[in-house]
Amino acid sequence: MTEAALHCANHPAVETTLRCNRCEKPICTKCAVQTPVGYRCRECVRGQQAVFETTKTLDYPVAAVVAAVGSGLGAGVLGYVGFWGFFVAPVAGGALAEVVRIATRRRRARRLPLVAALAGAVGVLPTLVPAVVLVVLSMTAGGGLELLGGVLWGIAYPLVTGGLLLSALYYRLRGIRL
Ligand SMILES: [Zn+2]
Ligand SMILES: [Zn+2]
Repeated sequence: MTEAALHCANHPAVETTLRCNRCEKPICTKCAVQTPVGYRCRECVRGQQAVFETTKTLDYPVAAVVAAVGSGLGAGVLGYVGFWGFFVAPVAGGALAEVVRIATRRRRARRLPLVAALAGAVGVLPTLVPAVVLVVLSMTAGGGLELLGGVLWGIAYPLVTGGLLLSALYYRLRGIRL
């Protein structure tokens, strides 16, 4: 039997010379899908996409965990560097973005920057706890103006440095250099 005697697996009446290069099934020109690796049947193309999408969705939890832990650690360290935190935070955010990229093997997932930034925000939250405690304490103690300054710094510092870290993380993942 020659190749010309093949009949399409989906259309038995149609003769064809094409075969899916993955499952070897005879396919007619209507059924063949041209892929970067050659002609394939629709079933094989669909199976391939399903695998592709699961690896992509796995990137989200991986990115979220890495971003949350990294931001938490970063924010914890920033709490000790004082004024320099304003300069260190964007650098730390950029570095964290690179770690997230390596963890997700540099695949491009559309919502990855947003997921990483949100998870990072969750990671930063615990560092805001001391600031909140400070506010509550100063209010119950009826502190004066000098205490208010410390409270404002206590809140503004983690908010601003955390914000800088997260925005650097977000924009670096989106491929925008600040
Ligand atoms: Zn196939
Ligand atoms: Zn066909």
